[in-house]
Amino acid sequence: PFLHIPGTPLDPIMALFEAYNHDSRPEKLNLVVGVYTDENGSIPILDSVRSAEQEWFAQGKPKNYRPIEGTPGFRRSVQDLLFGEDSEVITDQRAATLQSVGGTGGLKIGADLLKKVLPDAVVAVSDPSWENHRALFEAAGFKVVSYPYHDPQSHGVRFDSMCAFLRTLPAGSIVVLHACCHNPTGSDLSPDQWRMLVDLTGENDLFPFIDIAYQGFGRGLAEDALAVRLFAQAHRDFLIASSFSKSFSLYGERIGAATIVCGDPAVVSRVEGLAKRLVRTNYSNPPTHGAAIVETVLRTPSLRSLWESELGHMRTRIRRMREQLADALDRNDLGGSFQFIKAQNGMFSYSGLSAEHAKTLRDDFGIYVLDTGRICVAALNDGNLDRVVRAITHVVKR
Ligand code: PLP
Repeated sequence: PFLHIPGTPLDPIMALFEAYNHDSRPEKLNLVVGVYTDENGSIPILDSVRSAEQEWFAQGKPKNYRPIEGTPGFRRSVQDLLFGEDSEVITDQRAATLQSVGGTGGLKIGADLLKKVLPDAVVAVSDPSWENHRALFEAAGFKVVSYPYHDPQSHGVRFDSMCAFLRTLPAGSIVVLHACCHNPTGSDLSPDQWRMLVDLTGENDLFPFIDIAYQGFGRGLAEDALAVRLFAQAHRDFLIASSFSKSFSLYGERIGAATIVCGDPAVVSRVEGLAKRLVRTNYSNPPTHGAAIVETVLRTPSLRSLWESELGHMRTRIRRMREQLADALDRNDLGGSFQFIKAQNGMFSYSGLSAEHAKTLRDDFGIYVLDTGRICVAALNDGNLDRVVRAITHVVKR
């Protein structure tokens, strides 16, 4: 049967990542993949994570199977982060959380669950969005459309067009929203725009699916969860996929969560039962290590505050790189201001560079950025910034 399989292309991020890995130039620089690297260009192991790991190993616990949904401590910690401790959603037990294989696994649990309850729904993702959104929802059997989002003129969000488009969707459609640090553009909605969106989705009976892969990388842990909290206050059904890959620098541990919020607490256990069934028939139950680290950090006050300060450090360092990049490019007089980079949030910037610019950066300088012009600002540091600025200046002025 394999003889009939046509070639399947990798998504552009993974394809460029492979090209980068095969590039033998020592000065090559990867600004493609969404990974935070520190001042020295290394992926950090956070001190809070290291301590939690040591504590975990010292306990020498047997490697039993975990519950399908994850441990109670892990699940509660995820909800505390999303909704705020002692929030009404938690006290009223209106949400079910399942440990997932990264944020992607949370999206997949959610997509499979929605296919059971809204089988004919259209899924709307932002234009542009993280490549895997469309692919993942299509793989779950949905028709996927794009709603207007990025405005190349203002380098911000086309909020009016976005709302106008969402109003045309049939009732019961699913809208995928980035809670913060929009990937790939870096442009987020304002608090007022979120409030308008809560109303709009309610009035038009649209189902919100919030992807929060960068909590703490934008403005702060609570600030970045604003969208989640506003939807929760509206007492409606919605879904959240969270990731700890970036905020704990635990990429390869594959740790995240799917949280299903219900307007009516009476349905929570049935929804959770269905989600558990989907997990059981997929990978049976989740892995231990990443979840044990996250749970230990979040439930040990000293480690929790250490983690918050380490997360704050990553956030501030990215912001400083944004400022230096924007100011340095502007000093080189490239025919337009790059100050918009400072207003964006999180790891990524839609820089305005074209596919041709990206190709020259790759071919002539070994600097890998996506053809869309997306740059991973979180991979810049004092040691490579000048080189990146010089290379961008060269390709733009050519
Ligand atoms: N959602 C968005 C918007 C992302 O950018 C990413 C990762 O890049 C994910 C989800 C997936 O995260 P994870 O690596 O935890 O699966």
